[in-house]
Formats: sequence, structure tokens, C-alpha cells
Amino acid sequence: MKKICVYCASSPTIKPIFFDATETLAKLFVEHDIELVFGGGARGLMGKLADTVIKHRGKIKGIMPQFMNEVEWAHKGVTDFEFTETMHQRKALFLEGIDGLVALPGGCGTLEELLEAITLKRLGQFTKPIVILNTDNYYQPLKDMLNKCVDEDFMQKSHLDMWRFVDEPEHVIDALKNSPSWNAGAIKFANQ
Ligand code: AMP
Repeated sequence: MKKICVYCASSPTIKPIFFDATETLAKLFVEHDIELVFGGGARGLMGKLADTVIKHRGKIKGIMPQFMNEVEWAHKGVTDFEFTETMHQRKALFLEGIDGLVALPGGCGTLEELLEAITLKRLGQFTKPIVILNTDNYYQPLKDMLNKCVDEDFMQKSHLDMWRFVDEPEHVIDALKNSPSWNAGAIKFANQ
């Protein structure tokens, strides 16, 4: 596992527990020599992620649409950046060449990115592990919703293999490594 994409909050006003979990995870990624890709923001959990990786001399790349760069949302300490024209192009780039992705707590942007990745995985268009860090049980409602999708037959039981929820940052890397394998053949049972 060499490169992981992290989706996370832009809000700076969330509880300290979310920043602490992000810092712990960022340090672990650096210790394991794993390069990160993220939204490139300077605030919220994105800022904490990048600050921590830079402080510990890890590798991190920002991918951001140019219109966000123009309003100076880009993290000033991140030297590796790719700017896109649209949000859609940015989301596509997030998923290119990565070995897995992690969603930390976030708002509508994080949820949208995460659910798009899960949707692509269901269709066999994205096949890498997806781990959701459920710090402070923030993601319990999402976990319930995804289980409900399966319970009510909107998705198959086998789709539960597409993601893993973990409660602690220390469990993220193992969850990425031990996620069930997935392949393009998922299209065959996407809507059975
Ligand atoms: P959210 O989880 O709603 O905070 O959204 C995180 C995502 O929202 C990022 O990946 C960006 O698409 C976008 N975003 C919102 N605010 C910012 C910001 N200040 N800097 C960078 N990206 C932002």
C-alpha cells in the first residue's frame, strides 16, 4: 500500500476529538511510508492532515479545482498540487492510482465524495478498499442507512464488503490491508 486518498472535513469549528484522531492517523500514515492524496484545503481536518504530514516529513498531494485556489483555499505548505477545472474532474483524479481511500468525519462534501466512491465500487469502476473512520460515533447514522439499504434489498448483502467502519485511527491501516478484494466483475451483481 503506497498511496491513500483521504476525504475529510473543511470545517474548523468541529470538536477537538476529530482533530486528534486526524493527527494520530496522519502520523501513522507517515510512519508506514504511505503517501496521501487529499482535497488540498488549509482548514478543518484537511488542514490538520496536511500540517501533520508536513511536520513529520511525509508525502501529501492536494487536488483542488482552480476556483478554490483562486479564493486562496489551498494549503500553503503543500508543494505537490494538481488543479482541475471542475469538481467532477477533481473527484475523478482523487481515485486515480490510489491503493485505497479513507473517509474521516466531514460534511456534505465528504459524504458526497464517499458515496460516489461506494457507487463506483458497486459498479466495478473502482475496486480499492474504502475505510470509514467513525470517530466519536459520528458515522453511526450513515452506517445505519447503508445497512438499511441492504436490509430493504436496495443493495445486496455482498455489497457490505465494499466498506469497513472502524472506531479508532489505529485500526485504519489494518482495515485497509484486510479489506475483502473487489473487482470489475461487481457490475454483474450490481442490481440483482
Ligand atoms: P466538507 O466535508 O463538506 O467540509 O467538504 C470537504 C470538501 O468540500 C472538500 O473536498 C472540498 O470539495 C470542499 N471544500 C469545502 N470547503 C473547503 C475549503 N475551505 N477548502 C478546501 N476545500 C473545501
